[in-house]
Amino acid sequence: TTAHAPPHIAILPSPGIGHLIPLVEFAKKLHHRHGFSTTFVIPTDGPLSAAQTTFLSALPAAIDYILLPAVNFDDLAADVKIETRISLTVTRSLPSIRDAFKSLHQSKTLSAVVVDLFGTDAFDAARELNIPPYIFFCSTAMALCMFFHLPTLDETLPGEYRDAPEKLRIPGCTPIHGRDLFDPVQDRKNDAYKWAIHHAKRYKLAEGILVNSFQELEPGPVQFLLKKEPGKPTVYPIGPLIKMGPSKSASASESDISLKFLNDQPIGSVLYISFGSGGALSHAQIIELANGLEMSEQRFVWVVRCPNDTNSGASYFNIQNSGDPLAYLPEGFLERTRDLGLVVPLWAPQARILAHESVGAFLTHCGWNSVLESVVNGVPMIAWPLYAEQGMNAVMLHEDVRVALRPRVGENGLIERDEVAKAVKGLMEGEEGKGIRSRMKGLKDAAAKTLGENGDSVKLLDGLAEKWKSSGRK
Ligand code: UDP
Repeated sequence: TTAHAPPHIAILPSPGIGHLIPLVEFAKKLHHRHGFSTTFVIPTDGPLSAAQTTFLSALPAAIDYILLPAVNFDDLAADVKIETRISLTVTRSLPSIRDAFKSLHQSKTLSAVVVDLFGTDAFDAARELNIPPYIFFCSTAMALCMFFHLPTLDETLPGEYRDAPEKLRIPGCTPIHGRDLFDPVQDRKNDAYKWAIHHAKRYKLAEGILVNSFQELEPGPVQFLLKKEPGKPTVYPIGPLIKMGPSKSASASESDISLKFLNDQPIGSVLYISFGSGGALSHAQIIELANGLEMSEQRFVWVVRCPNDTNSGASYFNIQNSGDPLAYLPEGFLERTRDLGLVVPLWAPQARILAHESVGAFLTHCGWNSVLESVVNGVPMIAWPLYAEQGMNAVMLHEDVRVALRPRVGENGLIERDEVAKAVKGLMEGEEGKGIRSRMKGLKDAAAKTLGENGDSVKLLDGLAEKWKSSGRK
């Protein structure tokens, strides 16, 4: 009886709007190209943020969602790392995840269950119902190569990764310093490390792994991932999947202040600055960035948050951080830069900003969605990593792909104002900026090609969708 019902899948996003956004784009694409409908099964640790609520309320009809009851974290230490908290949100939700998969499967027959990078603990709940579990890896192909290699590193490398005298050789990747690997491996005694190893070991249990990247952006890692090897699930590089801004006509009657501001600026003249959904700078760093911007005399749109002096991912679990971020800017900064720049508290419509023709560069924390949004729009970057795997992304973008400038962190741990001004001017006006800009243009074209009819990413997605359709019909 299910032969004519539209194919259906369940997606389990782990906490973080940076995970939710690409997963929703994936679901939309499956719907548009193949008629799939999707139910998001969403574990939570409390009420949703305003940004999440707005985002979920705007989902199209083919995408439904279930909010699972909030897990209890009263027993967690205050300084528990993000990756631990994310993983525990999933494991503590397992009973309700099981129930949700079961009732969805009974009513609609699920062709697949898709989890993200920290959701491997839900595999068993899918397997018990004979539903194949997949991972949607919403970071780089390079980070996925690292996940595959992590169990080996764990067994063979003594001491902390950051103390390794030589660069580490991860199959498929250019050698990388241990200190540049993602945060959770920087302290092997921390629970976050144990979680990373736990998930890494479980990756081979997936039926397949989708990764939000493409050949031209990460040639080495993608080629390695595409090679079939025993113990390695099939990998599907289907990126770049990014949140698309609405069409040009919709933005003509714009009410958002940042888009309005951009409408009045010359083409390619504005630097957009944002540290993602979770990033926070120290107060001293906010001051240096502001002064450097002013010194650069360039136009800018800057999404500001309140400072956090100890935790650079401070707003990851709560975007609505309290207080007035404007109060932390240097005295008189807003008045002095009024003609050149716009400061936006907390949140801005980034996908639409990066698609705007007035934007000429992006100072970014290198979160992978932000990077892909920049690539698709051909916007060159200034890499300013803060936490998670952002340092790895910055190394790749700056040294490998060479589409980003990377300002130097001084001995006091800050990127000082002169360094900020040099990077901003260098990218907007300098010779170095020209090379970066033209390489970025090449990537933009490659991204459009891989997403076009007969593009590699689209063909891989189509193949997988056909496979899911036939398995759902059994
Ligand atoms: N984002 C946005 N407005 C903001 C900050 C972030 O729309 O003010 C979006 C951004 O476009 C991206 C996502 O939130 O799609 C952030 O994901 P990313 O992987 O870049 O960083 P994370 O937040 O996971 O660190």
